[in-house]
Amino acid sequence: MTTNGAPVNPPVNLPGARRHEGLRNFPPVEDWDHHVEYDAKAHPRKVPHTYSLIPTICFNCESSCGLLAYVDHEDLSIKKFEGNPAHPGSRGRNCAKGPATINQVHDPERILHPLRRVGERGSGQFEQVSWEEALTDIATRIRGAIVEDRRDEVMYHVGRPGEDGFVERVLQAWGVDGHNSHTNVCSSGGRSGYTHWMGYDRPSPDYANAKTILLLSSHLETGHYFNPHAQRIMEAKQNGAKIAVLDLRLSNTASHADLWIAPWPGSEGAIFLAVASYLLRTGSIDREFIRRWVNWDVYLERLHPGTPKDFDAFLARLTEDYARYTFEYAAEVAHVEVEQLEALARMVADGGTRLATHTWRSAAAGNLGGWQITRSLFFLNVLTGSVGTAGGTHPNGWDKIIAHHPLMPEANEAWSELLWPIEYPLTTNEMSTLLPHLLQEGRGRLEVYFSRVYNPLWVNPDGFTWIDVLKDESKIGLHVALTPTWSESAAFADYVLPMGHASERHDTMSFETHTSKWLAFRQPVTRVAMERRGIPYRDSRDTNPGEVWEENEFWFELSWQIDPDGSLGIRRYFESPDRPGERMTQDEYYETVFSTNVPGLPEAARAQGLSPLQYMRRYGVFEVARDLYRLDERPLSAAELEGAVPDENGVLRKPVTLESQPPLVGEAGAVGLVHEDGTRTAGWLSPSRKLELYSTTLADWGWPEHATPGYIESHVAATRIDRADQEFVLMPNFRLPTLVHTRSGNAKYLNEIANTHPLWFNTADAAALDVGTGDLVRVTTEIGHFVVRAWATEAIRPGVVGLSHHMGRWMQDGHPGSRWVMGKVDLQRSDEGVWKLRYVDTVKPFTSEDPDSERIYWDDPGVHQNLAFPVQPDPVSGMHCWHQKVRIEKAHEGDRYGDVEVDVNKSREAYRRWLAIARPGPGPDGQRRPEFLMRHVTPKRKAYRFAAAGATR
Ligand code: SF4
Repeated sequence: MTTNGAPVNPPVNLPGARRHEGLRNFPPVEDWDHHVEYDAKAHPRKVPHTYSLIPTICFNCESSCGLLAYVDHEDLSIKKFEGNPAHPGSRGRNCAKGPATINQVHDPERILHPLRRVGERGSGQFEQVSWEEALTDIATRIRGAIVEDRRDEVMYHVGRPGEDGFVERVLQAWGVDGHNSHTNVCSSGGRSGYTHWMGYDRPSPDYANAKTILLLSSHLETGHYFNPHAQRIMEAKQNGAKIAVLDLRLSNTASHADLWIAPWPGSEGAIFLAVASYLLRTGSIDREFIRRWVNWDVYLERLHPGTPKDFDAFLARLTEDYARYTFEYAAEVAHVEVEQLEALARMVADGGTRLATHTWRSAAAGNLGGWQITRSLFFLNVLTGSVGTAGGTHPNGWDKIIAHHPLMPEANEAWSELLWPIEYPLTTNEMSTLLPHLLQEGRGRLEVYFSRVYNPLWVNPDGFTWIDVLKDESKIGLHVALTPTWSESAAFADYVLPMGHASERHDTMSFETHTSKWLAFRQPVTRVAMERRGIPYRDSRDTNPGEVWEENEFWFELSWQIDPDGSLGIRRYFESPDRPGERMTQDEYYETVFSTNVPGLPEAARAQGLSPLQYMRRYGVFEVARDLYRLDERPLSAAELEGAVPDENGVLRKPVTLESQPPLVGEAGAVGLVHEDGTRTAGWLSPSRKLELYSTTLADWGWPEHATPGYIESHVAATRIDRADQEFVLMPNFRLPTLVHTRSGNAKYLNEIANTHPLWFNTADAAALDVGTGDLVRVTTEIGHFVVRAWATEAIRPGVVGLSHHMGRWMQDGHPGSRWVMGKVDLQRSDEGVWKLRYVDTVKPFTSEDPDSERIYWDDPGVHQNLAFPVQPDPVSGMHCWHQKVRIEKAHEGDRYGDVEVDVNKSREAYRRWLAIARPGPGPDGQRRPEFLMRHVTPKRKAYRFAAAGATR
């Protein structure tokens, strides 16, 4: 048996493989090159098919579960996807979205060739062009921007991310400041709350070993990290763990919880602070952990000057400071029963060091000040000492590896004000929601804008303003949509370039699914199958459907064409290490990465007679380490200590200059901490390398009143909603487990499971408005309104209505689109800036090479609610505050399901109003932004300086 011609020495123990009474749940790995199954459709005849089982990774959410593609030996077609038992995160299991990859691959509506706009931008008319034509045009424009030092005019805007660090390396090689993410509509609020504690921006709960699991909504557990998290939560539950869920809805996870609390939106922080207060006054805390790892001395210095630097004095002060957060206070703010909060506090205290908590979007993404909700949640972990412990909550960075290519370009010196405007110095990642407004204000322009597996006008709030800007060629010179499938935004592109799905591209992926550091390998499976059979190919365009290209090869080729003679210093990062002057292949790239930057992989591969790349092609994953606990106490290595000197706070630093480049997270030069007892450990990535109960960053950058975990009244707090005037809070940011933004649109299995889009409406509220299930209601926001059908249910708290965020897909008549999910719309804009969208046709059966397209029985395209939301950026985290104050009434005469009407002048007013509550930089030392905060492409330190003056540390 061979893999790419090399011998294999199976078997190995695969984490997801099980045997029971002679049965096994997966074919043994030694059969993966020659697995025989009988054709189910031929039953009762026995018709064998022989398959290669080739690992890859799901592309439908971030958790990157392993998939095994079944590639038929007869015609090299992919017959199905199942789980990969070798993957430590998913252990052979998937949610419904994983196997539905097969629909995406075989979708008759997918884009198969490069397309170029014909006529006006947004006319929806395209012609087929060659890859060469597209590349030449794009490369010429980018080269021009680089040569003319317009280094903020090239922007790559990512929706579903691929390999960590890959495009970042490309952009760094180009010397542009152009990485844009979707984080501000996703997770800035969650990230910000964690960042100001520990530098790391997200949690990694050790669910399987937890005694108490506290989830702030069930978002990741039922939708995003659905499979890897859910299976470990169930394991814990079987072992006796108790689960508490705070969620406005009775979600799948809440229905499995021991305690479900549905608080008023935005009040969650008050609840957590009441629990913190309980822990403090009952002594249910881990004193030694807090004493060693919390910056309590700074807390005293800043908030209680004159108090002796004494730990007991600190605890007394802290207990006193949080005493006002009583259960009664929190219950009043949250509109819940005191008894529920008492029960929650007991559960948290009982969890002790085995308290696993989690939040990602939900309340942190819904509310003004949502980042403080996250900060208050993690406060409970800090108090109970359940940070980095077995069954506790870890920082993501411990359970994740980014495998860089060793040949990294030098850091650039550019700073894009379109990405990092000075008004939001503490934003967690780029201010992407504001891009159209910043362009309209003339703060810059874009020569080339890549939307990459991203649908900005659909996903972001204020989509009509996006359309206005996307159509404006003076603001965006060229819009290149890199996408596997049609989206609303792609219809407003100049080039639509077909990119590969999960089984058609390379990426390394690593995410914090549990206490394990694994690196998985997404790969183009047909290409691997061809290689094994010695079938020649040029690149992935020869192995994918049509001319679909994998992105990595596209970026390499584009970089080459930007700098064809190497004079810009770009080409060398894309040259073959062994064939000077020739292009680097993907095999060469990954062989180098896997041989140099994945600890243990070369040895494991060698033990099986494989190269590191052959190992990854065969298993699709490698586990670098597991059971990673208390890495804050990791002793520093000799190399880390060499040249490091403690500063006045004990932070060990190596010399840096303004030419130095900060890491992805953390400060340049900082390596660890000297403790009072003289021990030197790695600590955290915060400025103090401790857990920052008192954030000097928040204090020194204009937010001293929020430097400690606290409660910020949300923009949709109960005090701001007039229930007597039919005002409600709209929760538009929950997801159904089987759908994912616009990427599930071309997966017929998923559309078959979920194909209605009701407005969740508490039965009492519905009755009060005389609205029944199925009735049309008009939902009015600050900038317009939309029309939707109500669903009266007990599964949402009174005063709140909810509409999931995956439906409402549309295309204009005559435009390309995905007919599995899109309804046809008429789109009108008045000269005064009032937009109207109205469906003129529902989803309908259509004829294609897939006979199932004629069997479509659903017709509801849903309602594109985001169009009616203004931008609402939190002034600290930059998070778009998704919750909306709305007024609900019965539909007006003439209203039709799906109608959306918006005045973009009102959008602009709302933008200005939220901008006015920001507290602009620069901060201390004339910095644009604190260096330790995450930035995907970090420039040299001097680029952080807003003013020219400034000294090195
Ligand atoms: S949880 Fe589901 S969608 Fe996410 S990676 Fe796993 S299988 Fe794919």
